[in-house]
Amino acid sequence: MILKNKEIAIIGGGPSGLTLARLLQLKDANVKVYERDLNKDARVQGSPLDMHEDSGYAALSQANLLEEFNKNVHTGADKRIIVNERAEIVLSDHETQPEEDADSRPSNPEIDRGALRKILLESLQPETIVWSSQFFSMEKQNEGWLLHFKEGSSAYADIVVAADGANSKIRPYVTSIKAFYSGIIMLEINVNDAQNAAPHIYALLNGGKVMAFGNGRNILGGQKDNGGLGFYATFKADENWVTDNGLNYSDRKQLLAWFKKEYSEWSSIWYELFKNAATPVIPRPIYCMPLDQTWETLPNLTMIGDAAHVMPPFAGEGANTAMLDALELSKCLTSGKYNTVQEAISSYELAMRKRASIA
Ligand SMILES: Cc1cc2nc3c(=O)[nH]c(=O)nc-3n(C[C@H](O)[C@H](O)[C@H](O)COP(=O)(O)OP(=O)(O)OC[C@H]3O[C@@H](n4cnc5c(N)ncnc54)[C@H](O)[C@@H]3O)c2cc1C
Repeated sequence: MILKNKEIAIIGGGPSGLTLARLLQLKDANVKVYERDLNKDARVQGSPLDMHEDSGYAALSQANLLEEFNKNVHTGADKRIIVNERAEIVLSDHETQPEEDADSRPSNPEIDRGALRKILLESLQPETIVWSSQFFSMEKQNEGWLLHFKEGSSAYADIVVAADGANSKIRPYVTSIKAFYSGIIMLEINVNDAQNAAPHIYALLNGGKVMAFGNGRNILGGQKDNGGLGFYATFKADENWVTDNGLNYSDRKQLLAWFKKEYSEWSSIWYELFKNAATPVIPRPIYCMPLDQTWETLPNLTMIGDAAHVMPPFAGEGANTAMLDALELSKCLTSGKYNTVQEAISSYELAMRKRASIA
């Protein structure tokens, strides 16, 4: 087996990195995940994800985690309405029967990001995650890489997998191709205890999701399992809007005033999101990798997930594609079909680039 006596470092403990770690450990590989977060509770996790049959769900199935996953599926959260800026319903699937397969489960089951992360973390062997390890550089050492972390520690690995997301610090060691700005900003807003804090929106959602469109702007959001809401206000703006707009992201009054101006023709129902937002709200400029990107495969370094192919989130494919990367890379590395790690990576990367462009 090409992984025999090899130490694998996965940089980043998001959906892609954790799924890869789990799948490789099931094949007895020697894996560490280096994650910059201080610990598992360091960050609020964003809005729920729906797992697609052939990608996210397939990866969880191969990882033997379906039982845990199914326990955490958020029933009804996949129901959606489409509304206009006045919050009038244009389309709703709340009344339609769920599309179910032979196992009687929804076709795109929803799970909170936090629950998914917990399931993956708990599936790993103890000491797999090295918290508080923010990668900042590496150099070749012997046949592998010596990794350096901001906190002052270093570690050696024979194989390195970049799973460190859209702003990957490892990607430049693979290719100079960069993501381009899509022209869109998404302002992430979380509201706790939605029933009391945003009662009208809570009622409108009816346990599911909403997509609101009007005047070239958009609001997307949904019910979280913990009684809160996860929302994104989406609009076109310059890339430097995030730093140049003068907004204090922890000042709800200021944010509401901005919203009233920017979304001037929108119903006042949406004000609830800003009046009771958990602060700070998080501005997310949306990037995309060129669809025709290519690079020469390296002997022992590759990328998965957003590090390889960040994309706008509107098709709900990012995390799903990221987890499928983990599945496909683990298969290539452990199938016995390839004579070297480089051949296995090459086969994975060819298919991954094609798949990601389509997504
Ligand atoms: C607004 C929005 C909505 C979305 N909605 C959906 C959706 O509905 N469905 C869907 O499938 N996808 C969705 N996505 C996309 C999805 O979030 C990403 O595609 C997915 O999280 C990618 O997973 P990943 O593991 O590759 O990277 P990430 O989730 O970004 O994880 C990267 C990990 O690496 C860590 N890290 C970063 N830098 C370093 C470093 N230097 N050293 C060590 N660790 C580091 C981070 O802390 C993080 O834990 C959405 C994205 C956005 C922005």
